[in-house]
Amino acid sequence: MELHGGIAVVSYVPVIGLEIHAQLLTATKIFCGCRTSFGAPPNTNVCPVCLGLPGALPVLNRRAVDLAVRAALALECQVHHTSVFARKNYFYPDLPKGYQISQYEQPLATGGRLRLSSGKYIRITRIHMEEDAGKSLHGLADSASHTHIDLNRAGTPLIEIVSEPDVRSAAEAAEYFSRMRELLVSIGACDGNMEEGSLRCDANVSIRADESAPFGTRTETKNVNSFRFLEQAIAFEIDRQIDVVSSGGTVIQETRLFDNATGRTESMRSKEDAHDYRYFPEPDLAPLVVTEAWVEAARAALPELPDAKTARFVSAYGLSDYDANLLVRLIPGGADYFEATVAAGASAKGASNWILGELRRILKDAGGDDMTAVPVEPIRLSELIVLAETDVISSTVAKDVLSKMWVSGRGAKAIVDAEGLAQVGDSAALQAAIGAVLAENADAVAQYRAGKSAAFGFLVGQAMKAMKGKANPKAINALLKSELEKIPN
Ligand code: ADP
Ligand code: MG
Ligand code: ZN
Repeated sequence: MELHGGIAVVSYVPVIGLEIHAQLLTATKIFCGCRTSFGAPPNTNVCPVCLGLPGALPVLNRRAVDLAVRAALALECQVHHTSVFARKNYFYPDLPKGYQISQYEQPLATGGRLRLSSGKYIRITRIHMEEDAGKSLHGLADSASHTHIDLNRAGTPLIEIVSEPDVRSAAEAAEYFSRMRELLVSIGACDGNMEEGSLRCDANVSIRADESAPFGTRTETKNVNSFRFLEQAIAFEIDRQIDVVSSGGTVIQETRLFDNATGRTESMRSKEDAHDYRYFPEPDLAPLVVTEAWVEAARAALPELPDAKTARFVSAYGLSDYDANLLVRLIPGGADYFEATVAAGASAKGASNWILGELRRILKDAGGDDMTAVPVEPIRLSELIVLAETDVISSTVAKDVLSKMWVSGRGAKAIVDAEGLAQVGDSAALQAAIGAVLAENADAVAQYRAGKSAAFGFLVGQAMKAMKGKANPKAINALLKSELEKIPN
């Protein structure tokens, strides 16, 4: 507590724990063969199992387990050799069986962590597998007073990733969510499509007087599906709880909903406790056994993770942290494109400069942000970079050539040859051009001799112009200097 002008001002700090639901990237559902494709007509991807018809038996999708194991390993979790599916009982119209098959006391994996850009780790409590529910559609245009149920989503394979309450701000929560998406997408476990519901986050938020105080009562805000909304929802919730406590009230443990339109959270229901769900082991599924060999095969199949790749780009290619981050994390397909360009012969520095500079500029102008939309193949960019780096063409001409490559699909060398764009070095043409420039600009020559160095730059510009940009600037400089020395005073 601080005193400001005699008024007691209590400041609070937030504590945040996140539960992320990620849809596993399988072709079919977790316990039946129905497709998981998004956007199918309502209730067409359904069968007796996912409709919950009596007597229908679930069969676990091996691919879903494989992807869940990958995610667990990427998050440095311990994968348990035996885990158990459990029924989580609740009634809701989009849950036809009256229970969700999830995991409870024995989840697939526990004890991992995810690194943020600050170097801080957020610990992962557990990862369990479960099925998604269906979807209730309220107030459709043709029947505003009805609720429709679409069960296409019912039985979609999910993992729930529960964090420890380690997050300390709304911005940190958004970064955690975004790094989680990046990681899951990079290992092929999830498509990361948040608009289609492939990735959702529940935010548990509480406040306390300072970092050493015990945790306060938390609220859980459900199903936030964008990084920005998550940040807004948490910021709102922190402020709301501070208002409640500051005005003498107490925070109630409850489930809240975020309204994208207003940026506010609204109370939905009082928080249920685990015992309300009457969890018990799913009798229709044997315990899930993931052998050591299975875990090791999944580990071996993991691609290089974003943190490791960024570090390698710095150490192996000498890139700055900033450029490595851009290529690995911020430009989709940037890392692969970069490595292919270097493998084709360009220098690492040149490749990163050209990709992050000119190539990205043209890509943006063309309305793209994804390197797979670049029509210039890495091997062709590399050819261009080598021409520029060996001074065959000037960097101004090289930019021009890149634009031409983009539209025509032709190679750099082909364009340079066909259009005579190669730089002219110590040649008769350059000698003649410089002679003419000196003759035509007697004033500037006199100024240069009088010690005005700016006049030299002017003469270089004139010579470059006379050569239509094709002269090697180094050659112009050298020749011009020696000519100016030659002319007697
Ligand atoms: P439940 O199963 O009821 O959702 P859990 O114990 O699994 O409860 O916790 C769910 C999430 O809430 C976890 O991410 C955890 O880190 C977070 N959490 C727990 N206590 C607090 C708290 N006091 N403030 C903020 N988050 C919390
Ligand atoms: Mg929970
Ligand atoms: Zn089905």
